[in-house]
Amino acid sequence: MHFLDQAKIFVRSGAGGPGAVSFRREKFIEYGGPDGGDGGKGGDIVFEAVAGLNTLIDFRYTQHFRAPRGKGGAGSNRTGAGGKDLVVKVPVGTQILADDEARTLLADLTGVGETLVFLKGGDGGRGNASYKTSTNRAPRQHGTGWPSEEAWVWLRLKLLADAGLVGLPNAGKSTFINAVTNARAKVGAYAFTTTRPQLGVVRHKGGEFVVADIPGLIEGAAEGAGIGDRFLGHIERCRVLLHLVDANDEDVATSYRVVRDELEAYGAGLTEKPVVVALNKIDTLDDELIAALSAELEEASGAAVIPISAAAGTGLDWALDKLLEAIGPHGAAVSADDEGEDAIIWSPL
Ligand code: GDP
Ligand code: MG
Repeated sequence: MHFLDQAKIFVRSGAGGPGAVSFRREKFIEYGGPDGGDGGKGGDIVFEAVAGLNTLIDFRYTQHFRAPRGKGGAGSNRTGAGGKDLVVKVPVGTQILADDEARTLLADLTGVGETLVFLKGGDGGRGNASYKTSTNRAPRQHGTGWPSEEAWVWLRLKLLADAGLVGLPNAGKSTFINAVTNARAKVGAYAFTTTRPQLGVVRHKGGEFVVADIPGLIEGAAEGAGIGDRFLGHIERCRVLLHLVDANDEDVATSYRVVRDELEAYGAGLTEKPVVVALNKIDTLDDELIAALSAELEEASGAAVIPISAAAGTGLDWALDKLLEAIGPHGAAVSADDEGEDAIIWSPL
C-alpha cells in the first residue's frame, strides 16, 4: 500500500566545529600573538509544518536527517562557518513522538508555518586566541566543539480537518469530496481506490471548511482489517462527520451500523461527534424508494437523513448547510487544547 501516516526517522544536529590553534607570524613583529578563531556552530534540526502535504509518505524514502557540522576556526581570528540548519518539512497535523514504550508526545505541529527547533546544533569550540591571559600569552588550548544531538522519533499524522467523511468502500466519499471541493480524489467502482487521505476546502455560503476523505472502512477496521483503521486517527480531530451510505447496498441500516461499530471500537470519542447522515446515489432510485430507504436509515441512525447524489450534484448544498452548521462560523479544526489534552509545548532549548 502506498501510504504512510506514521514514520520513524533519525535526526541529528550538527556538531560544533573545533576552534583553531594559530599564531600570528609576521616578519617585523617579534612575538605574534595567538589568533586562532572559534569553530562554527553546527546546524539545528528544525521541523516545519507546511501546507499541501497530506501524508508522511516521503519519509519512507528518506529516514535519516543529519544537519551539517560547523567548520573549524582558522588563523587571523577567523570564525568557522556555521552548519546550515536542516528543516524537515512535515504536513500540518504531524505529531512528534519519542521512540520509547509510551510514545511520549513531544510536539504537535498544528499550524501552517509552525516551526520547532528540535535538536540544537553544537556550539563551536573556542580558538586559542580566546584563551589568552596576562599569564599565558601563547596558549595552545582550544575547544574541540560541542557535540551533536541525535534521536529516533516517530512522526504521526493526524490531519486537521473540520469534517471527516466516513462510510463503507464505494459509498461515494471520493466522488463527494471532488464534487464539493477543489480536491481531486481517485474514484473507482471497486473498494479501496482511496489509499491515502485527501483534503479539500469547501467554500459555502460565506463559510470555509476543510473536508477529509479517508480510505473506506470495512468491518473489523478498528482491529486492523482492511486499511481503514490506520486512518481513523485522522478523524479524531474533526468537528463533524459526514456518514455516507450507498443507497444500492443490500441493507442500508446494516451498512450504517457496520461503520458505527468500527467508530465505536476505535474509541477516542468518534461516536460522540456530531454526524450528518446522507443516503447517496439517489439518482439510481425512484422517489418512492428514496423515501423508503431514507426512513430505514433514519430509524437506524436516529438522525435526519439527507438524500444526495454526489455524482449528479443533488442535495449537496443541503448536506453542506448541515456541516457548516455543526462546524460553526469559524470553520477551524479542533486544536490540541480543545481535545482536552494539555497543549504540549516542548523544546530542548
Ligand atoms: P468511495 O470508495 O466511498 O470513495 O467511493 P467512490 O467515490 O470511489 O465511488 C464509488 C463508485 O460509486 C464509483 O464508481 C462512483 O462513480 C460511484 N458513485 C459515487 N457517487 C455516486 C452517485 O451519486 N450516483 C451514482 N450513480 N454513482 C455514484
Ligand atoms: Mg474513495
